[in-house]
Amino acid sequence: MASSRSRLAPSPTGALHLGNAFSFLVTYALAIQNEWELLFRLEDLDGPRKKIETMQESEDILTWLGIGWQGNVLHQSKGLKHSKAALETLILANQSYHCSASRSQIESASSAPHADDVHGVPNQSPQNISSHNKIVHCNTNWRFVSSGCTRKMNDEIIGEHSFSNNDDFIIWTKNNTPSYQLAVVVDDHRQGVTDVVRGNDLLSSASKQEELYSALGWDHPRWWHIPLIVGEDGNRLAKRHGDSRISYFRAQGVPAERIIGLLSYWCGITQELSPLSMHSFTEQFQMTNLTAETIVFSAQEKLWLLDSC
Ligand code: GLU
Repeated sequence: MASSRSRLAPSPTGALHLGNAFSFLVTYALAIQNEWELLFRLEDLDGPRKKIETMQESEDILTWLGIGWQGNVLHQSKGLKHSKAALETLILANQSYHCSASRSQIESASSAPHADDVHGVPNQSPQNISSHNKIVHCNTNWRFVSSGCTRKMNDEIIGEHSFSNNDDFIIWTKNNTPSYQLAVVVDDHRQGVTDVVRGNDLLSSASKQEELYSALGWDHPRWWHIPLIVGEDGNRLAKRHGDSRISYFRAQGVPAERIIGLLSYWCGITQELSPLSMHSFTEQFQMTNLTAETIVFSAQEKLWLLDSC
């Protein structure tokens, strides 16, 4: 059995785009090269923004690209009791307090806080947490008592860096669901994930997550935060940049090898755009060739993709 394990963790809040594919391909190549086991976990907590049609689609798209994983697809929404148990541990340890929160704070707590999402909640820590927590209404929100300290962290790609953890972020909402921050920690821990690979817009979340790991008495995984794919305006790839969904390119007749070819170019495997098989990608991928800068998906690259149709 592999001693290390990673996961592909898409959220079914939108169709997979080139930025997601980039992150999943790098995860897959690292898993093959380092003999990690790879899980597929659908992070389907974000009820209002969940798009049912994208739940099966992300599986199909990854398979079409040639990415494989071990075992069945895990649904985050089916393991809520584990997050509930973690919440109870944190409450008992006076590491969490109940609070009010606006509807938008509650909604954004369910999803990973990507760069241009609204995140961060004011610190409202009560003076005496245990007496404050004695009076609890059934349905309430819970925040984590952050350390208020600067945390030094290590990332396999970015190296050492530090973050100030002074945001008492929401870990449980009055909809009776865990927030992204709590659920991702609980699920990564219970599923034995040792290596987390994802876009570097979640780097500051890793610092919050390390605090949760330590409050729960667990070891945190190794972090691999990879560069973000942005549009020509420098913002995270989104609808406003035109269609960058993999399903769109697939429907236009773009072969998977061409998409992998573009991602290989971004990874520094090739010096010019040319199609590449998944097998060659996983063989030739080298973390040291990956740029530390954000990667721009240009109009010219889009034309190159569509040129094959
Ligand atoms: N499901 C999250 C997302 O798609 C990623 C979570 C993670 O890798 O920690 O944004």
